[in-house]
Amino acid sequence: MAQQRTFSIIKPDATRRNLTGAINAKIEASGLRIIAQKRIHMTSEQAGEFYAVHKERPFYGELVEFMTSGPVVVQVLEGDDAVAAYRGVMGATNPADADEGTIRKEFAESIEANSVHGSDSLENAAIEIAHFFNDDEIVG
Ligand code: GDP
Repeated sequence: MAQQRTFSIIKPDATRRNLTGAINAKIEASGLRIIAQKRIHMTSEQAGEFYAVHKERPFYGELVEFMTSGPVVVQVLEGDDAVAAYRGVMGATNPADADEGTIRKEFAESIEANSVHGSDSLENAAIEIAHFFNDDEIVG
């Protein structure tokens, strides 16, 4: 299968509960490699722009507030079919619907505070990676 890159965020609910390592253990156990990583505190502007596709949704304001409520870890993941593979490791948006063994089933608090983000397409992965990383920060 084709090598791909995808974009990942460990969200504030997870950094608050000290789950960064536990989440990355699941990511690495799946065979995906973390090839870039940094811990940041998003500004409202960054979070608002990142979730601009959801601007018309009723939860947009709350989502921006949540994503800026604490530090996040932004990462680039690489591996076979990485976009779909990481979506599989994450589990469904709502943890109540997530499969056993997935990050969201195990760790998410709610449909909003669901511990991780992952790109939903290869095209969006490239856009999201470029949003947070310069080429020289992706070190393999
Ligand atoms: P994802 O691709 O699985 O993250 O899901 P979406 O792109 O549909 O939604 C983006 C993010 O918005 C989710 O990961 C949640 O943090 C949040 N979200 C999605 N649906 C809801 C909702 O119904 N209510 C609230 N409060 N947040 C939501």
